[in-house]
Amino acid sequence: MVVIGAGPAGSVAAKVLAEGGAKVALVDKARFPRDKACGDVVGPRAVSLLSDRYGSFAAWTKPVGDMDVVGPGGGRVRLPARPGRDFPAGGWAVPRTILDKLLYDEAVGSGAEPLHGRFGGMVSAGGLQVVNLDGGRRLSAEFVIGADGATSAVASSNGMVDPARVLWGFATRCYLEQEVPVPLISFWEEAPGRSFPGYGWLFPGPDGYANAGLGIGTGHSREGASRAVHRLDSFLDHLRRAGHVGAAAPARRMGGWLKMGMVGTRPARGRILLVGDAAGLVNPLQGEGIAQAVGSAVAASEAILSDTGNAAGTYMAWLRKEAAFQGSTAVLHQALLPHPRVVSALSRVLTWNALGSRLGEPWGLYWNDLTGGAHPGPARTMAATAGTAVRVLTSTSAARRSLAKELRWA
Ligand SMILES: Cc1cc2nc3c(=O)[nH]c(=O)nc-3n(C[C@H](O)[C@H](O)[C@H](O)COP(=O)(O)OP(=O)(O)OC[C@H]3O[C@@H](n4cnc5c(N)ncnc54)[C@H](O)[C@@H]3O)c2cc1C
Repeated sequence: MVVIGAGPAGSVAAKVLAEGGAKVALVDKARFPRDKACGDVVGPRAVSLLSDRYGSFAAWTKPVGDMDVVGPGGGRVRLPARPGRDFPAGGWAVPRTILDKLLYDEAVGSGAEPLHGRFGGMVSAGGLQVVNLDGGRRLSAEFVIGADGATSAVASSNGMVDPARVLWGFATRCYLEQEVPVPLISFWEEAPGRSFPGYGWLFPGPDGYANAGLGIGTGHSREGASRAVHRLDSFLDHLRRAGHVGAAAPARRMGGWLKMGMVGTRPARGRILLVGDAAGLVNPLQGEGIAQAVGSAVAASEAILSDTGNAAGTYMAWLRKEAAFQGSTAVLHQALLPHPRVVSALSRVLTWNALGSRLGEPWGLYWNDLTGGAHPGPARTMAATAGTAVRVLTSTSAARRSLAKELRWA
């Protein structure tokens, strides 16, 4: 087996395959440890998946519990961290230089062969996939897992992406020497009454450095991403004026693409399976992708180990469970994007304190895609009702129909 990309998706896939007795090459163009633009928060679903397979990461991480959402008018809603049936209360803050190296070392320790190299295309020959790497190197494998991130060359070189239908985002982060008592998401107005088409964040880090950033939705085009980069300083000024951060200078700025909502990517074909960002699994509401990277990597690798004759079909069946949330929220995201005034008004209403105190728990469940694993109760009922409403309202959209079509193919 060849796994291209050794972020969380690739390293987890390589570990599962190697532990299952497969011969695996784990290829990455970067040398580890390597940095990756991220908010550095590992959500509850990811914590649960990683804790099931790895020893404790407690020494490397800082627990993250409740999260506050701050509206443009200063209203604040607390999203409480409560445990569910299959996830813990809260997540971890851990820099990606550390997390990704831990996962990479685990994969190599389990028997995956690390290879430094850049994927440069592949062909099918004699029932095998022949992968070209830079320097004229070639690898032959029964299966290829594309775990090479949002701009996946495995996906594009195999015709598995329709660029006109992908839902893109771009986000940029920096570090500030700053303690952050409660992580926060900020709906920021660039101009009075006009919401920035995305959101900003201020998350704590385990080492006294906060991670602050700004993400933008760019729809089906990749144009306009630089606005997140250019507006980061204005957003930091906003955080300073609101008293969330002090005068510390931002350092280590880095940006990256988000491919969201599964739309526009065919996640498996024959013996090529895409996982994580390569499959477009980032949550269209809040930009989380590590949980989906880990979940899809486990699902794809187990499909290969258990069902070599129909691994793509088995993996697609798993993805169909993700698709209801991903597809419907992708449509919601796309519908709200061109309406900064509507988003502004909506976020003011939702973060109005009297309302927000009632909405916090269901909001946290719905937008973090935790509804299905939550304990029964009023919060889960409200979150499930919101999810059903969005699914029904978006059911006839072109994006949902094409996603359903993609997932029936194998
Ligand atoms: C600014 C920002 C903030 C974010 N914040 C969060 C957050 O707080 N929490 C969260 O859960 N998610 C967050 N995300 C999303 C998260 O970073 C991704 O979902 C996650 O990294 C996906 O993991 P992956 O393994 O699929 O891809 P990646 O982590 O992108 O790994 C892909 C790997 O493939 C390698 N690669 C790429 N091309 C090639 C090639 N041609 N040949 C060989 N190797 C190649 C790369 O070097 C890289 O190591 C954020 C994203 C951004 C951009």
